[in-house]
This record gives sequence, C-alpha cells and structure tokens, in this order.
Amino acid sequence: MQDISRRHWLAGSAAAAALATAPAMAAAPTAGVQSPGVYRQKLGNFEVTALYDGTWFRKIDEKFVRNAGPDQVNKALSDSFLQPGIVPTSFTALLVNTGSKLILIDTGTGGQLGPTTGHMPGALAAAGVKPEAIDTIAISHFHPDHINGIKDKDGKKVFANAEIQVPAPEWAFWMDDANMGAAPEAMRPLFLNVRRIFRDIAGEVKRFEPGAELEPGVGTIPAYGHTPGHTAFTVNSGNQSLLVLSDTTNHPWLFARNPEWQGIFDMDGPMAVDNRKRMLDRAAADRLQVAGYHFPFPATGFILKSGTGYEVVPAMWQPI
Ligand SMILES: [Zn+2]
Repeated sequence: MQDISRRHWLAGSAAAAALATAPAMAAAPTAGVQSPGVYRQKLGNFEVTALYDGTWFRKIDEKFVRNAGPDQVNKALSDSFLQPGIVPTSFTALLVNTGSKLILIDTGTGGQLGPTTGHMPGALAAAGVKPEAIDTIAISHFHPDHINGIKDKDGKKVFANAEIQVPAPEWAFWMDDANMGAAPEAMRPLFLNVRRIFRDIAGEVKRFEPGAELEPGVGTIPAYGHTPGHTAFTVNSGNQSLLVLSDTTNHPWLFARNPEWQGIFDMDGPMAVDNRKRMLDRAAADRLQVAGYHFPFPATGFILKSGTGYEVVPAMWQPI
C-alpha cells in the first residue's frame, strides 16, 4: 500500500516538474485578503445568515482554564492542530430573516479586539443588507465581543432603526453601580464598556426575561453561568430548528471536548459547566443543528457525544 502511494507521489512530482518548465500561462498576484464571511442557510421559511466578524488570537496563560493546567490546555490545542499558548477565538453573529423581520443576534466586536476583527459590517454589506434595515438586535450577554458592534468607534449607533432586546438579568447585573464597585479591578473595564454602549440609549433598550419568545419562531433560553444573564436562542420555522448556543461553549475543540473546563471568562464556573452540558446533551439527543458564536466559521454543526465530552460535526455547506 505504502509503495503504491509512494510511486503515485513520485509520478505526481515528476509531472509537476515537467509542468514547471512550461511557460506560466496565468501568473497572478496573490489576493492577500480574505473575502467577507457570509453563509446563508434556509431554515423552514426563514433564512439564517452567519456573519463573520473576525478572529482574536488570544494569548493565554496558566489561568485560562481554572480547573485544568496549561499542559492539558496546550495538549488540547495541539491535538486540534493549533499552536500552543494561543486560542483563536472567532466571532460570528447571526441574522435571522423571518420573512417579516430582520433580527440580528449579537453584533460582533465593533473592531475593538484588534485588526483581525470588526468585519461584521462588511459581511452584512456583502450579504446585501443595509444596517438600517435591521428591525431587532437580540443580545445574548454583555461581553464586549457581543455588544460593541451596536456602536461605531465614534459612539454612533450602527443600526439606526433597530429595537434592542437584552436579557433582563444581564442588564440588572451590569448596570448596577454597586456590582461595579464590588467587582475585582480586572472586571471594571467590562462594566465601563457596558455603560459606554447602553447609558445614552437606555430608554430604547427593551429587556426580556430569558425563556420568553422575542418574535414568532425566535425564542430565548436562560443559560446562566458564563455571565449572570447569559442567554441562548432557538430559531424554529416549519419543521426545522437551530439552537443558538451563544457562549455556553467557547472554542469547541477545547470546551465541547472538555465540557467540565471552567474558562476564565465563565463568571460562575460550575453553573456554566452545568448549562453547557445541559445544552449539548439536548442538542445531541434531539440531533439539533447548533450555532456557536465562537465556533470556526460558519460556526454551525451538530453535536455528538464522544467519550467524556462532545464533538462538533460541521454542517454541510448548503449550495442553495
Ligand atoms: Zn463571547
């Protein structure tokens, strides 16, 4: 077997060498830039569009997972063909077109996590949707990578006509000055960022109780732990469903494979783990398609139970 494939390779390289001596017929400069990340899929009568905002190459230290050491984390990265010490954290917002409304679930980073982020508005333009056409913005939680896209760098609202829907317990926690005062110094910038985004538009923000339906076919599920009001979503149309995990599972090759791991970003680690397992168990049992905000683009697939954890099986590209 090995011999055959070896001969095949040798024959291949001989052919390549012969070709290399022929004059180049189509020399072209490399593009050097990525195309906008837009992925559409039909879900019943709805259309769901994944919009890629970018990737933050997050340098991690020994505190990245509270209950696993750097050796374990680096092994998980290396087993996933990733570089040790860096977690590529990608961001994908979802646009749901129900036929009567355009609902954007989370808004990207607003380009505030470095030059490799902030591509969501470009993706939206490539999808042919103007920001002012968005009817509703639904927010999963108040971390900067989910809310910063609400405003541009000058503090102007990006989605001029959108109603903003946020989880009530998330609002109650972050907007409380007593909580900000009591928080560790490292968390203070998160509280200040929430105020930067929401304070002057507070009157326009609607608060929903997780569990409520936002629009016919778009529901919410309490999935606390990552943050006090962290919320997942369901999108249902016809006989098709999508479970939007939000941040119940960060990079799946780390946190789906090791569902017990408590990331530094999970404010209540044990509760985040319980809700992660509950959501992934449900997805596996019901064979539900899922979307994960930090999954590799287009950030959608299915969940298999595997050993002591879970594996994400990417969804096939839908050609139409
Ligand atoms: Zn996030």
